[in-house]
Amino acid sequence: MKKTISCEIIQDLLPNYIEGILSNESEKLVSEHLHKCVYCKKEWENMNTLIEVNPVEERKVDYLKGIHKRFRNIFLACIILSAITFLIGVFYSEKNTDEALWTLFLSFFVFVVMLIKFGFPLFFAVASFFGYKKTKNKWILIITVIFIYLFFDSISFVIKNILIYGH
Ligand SMILES: [Zn+2]
Repeated sequence: MKKTISCEIIQDLLPNYIEGILSNESEKLVSEHLHKCVYCKKEWENMNTLIEVNPVEERKVDYLKGIHKRFRNIFLACIILSAITFLIGVFYSEKNTDEALWTLFLSFFVFVVMLIKFGFPLFFAVASFFGYKKTKNKWILIITVIFIYLFFDSISFVIKNILIYGH
């Protein structure tokens, strides 16, 4: 016996059909009906467009993409900066053990505190500034400036997202 389902029932099922949460059997029935019924197919297409251009969902995806990209940039900056401080450490190790220890200490902590996404630049700005005061090495001062920049960049990024998206 072939079951026939009214358009009204099919349209009641459409939201769940689009979300893909119907049972296999119901999904098959809706799918078969959409092939035969132009009216329900039109309704299905309208619902699909409404869901596709949901602005809240799109903004959430953009926001997450932004965080992902920002974290990747900070990660790359950390690798480059720790490589630089490590090289300075190696370069100075033959002349001055104290300076070598300072730069090696910095490059080690770049890796460790990197895990604290937005909090670390301020810490390194302060740490490398004290490193500079102790060693008077101008390269460490440059690293301080880069970390101050990263700090304000992260802060402005967070504030901007709070203002625009409210979270
Ligand atoms: Zn129909």
